[in-house]
Amino acid sequence: MLRFLSACVVLSLIASGCASEAGPFDMAPYAALEADPAPEDFDGVTATFLGVSTLVIRDGETTLLIDGFFSRPDLTGLGMLRELTPDAERIDAGLAYGNVTEAAAITTVHSHFDHAMDVAVVALRTGAIVAGSPSTANIARGGGVPENQIVEVAVGDSAQFGAFTMRWFASRHYPLPEPIGSLISGPIEAPLEVPARATAWKQGRADTIVIEHPRGTLLVQGSAGYLDGALAGTDVDVAFLGIGGLGSEAAGYVDGYWNALVGETSPSRIFPMHWDDFSKPLDEPLRPGGDGADFVNAMASVQEKASAAGIAVALPPFAVPVALY
Ligand SMILES: [Zn+2]
Repeated sequence: MLRFLSACVVLSLIASGCASEAGPFDMAPYAALEADPAPEDFDGVTATFLGVSTLVIRDGETTLLIDGFFSRPDLTGLGMLRELTPDAERIDAGLAYGNVTEAAAITTVHSHFDHAMDVAVVALRTGAIVAGSPSTANIARGGGVPENQIVEVAVGDSAQFGAFTMRWFASRHYPLPEPIGSLISGPIEAPLEVPARATAWKQGRADTIVIEHPRGTLLVQGSAGYLDGALAGTDVDVAFLGIGGLGSEAAGYVDGYWNALVGETSPSRIFPMHWDDFSKPLDEPLRPGGDGADFVNAMASVQEKASAAGIAVALPPFAVPVALY
């Protein structure tokens, strides 16, 4: 079935892939929305955004990674049918962008390739414990991460890394239309060995990740899906919100997403992410996929709702640490 869909269609269903024929999207109107870099002498918790929902979270002693997706394979044309292997050169460059040489832990928001395909290589490079769903654990196993470096976590679990406590909450993926939804849903039930097609990285569990620290609490939502009530009673200071696809949804869906992720948790600052075209490598400036309409609409919704609620919105700059608290 997949072979009858163009890579553009498939990619745009996963998030917002494929370059526009009208030329690159102009990010200039959004430049003023970029968060300021953390001051040199800042001694609190920082976050560094490295595309899609890859984040480096640090407090000066401990480094945590979300996703660690750097390969960004080009799936245009017949790319979806290609067998993919994590790109060691791009992974090394990506870790260097984030100034990461070692990390205590890496987790993923779910197990699709645009989040989890590099998790094993990144764990082996950095020594990070892979703490994640059984599907993410199977990606790590398939990539040769030793069992004593893998911790399978269930929804409701927490794990301590330095002064950070990571917690995993139930969520949902952004609703993908059929047939792609079924093709890439469900768990990865055995160690995933590469090379493999993009569809081998099945979704597994879609989690919301909450990271507590004595200085403050952070929420990471990779996909623009939500589960009503899952975060009830969880207050956070900052939320990184995946917005890919959100700008293509009806107002009622956007309201539901906002209420479940932001209404329940009351952050004072929001950082939209997962808006960039991940078929482009990280040595090109991040830009939205397609004609950018999904990004423009999603940003307009988020800005309007945040403004009404008195919440600050900023785009996380690429590869620049931002002070969280
Ligand atoms: Zn996904």
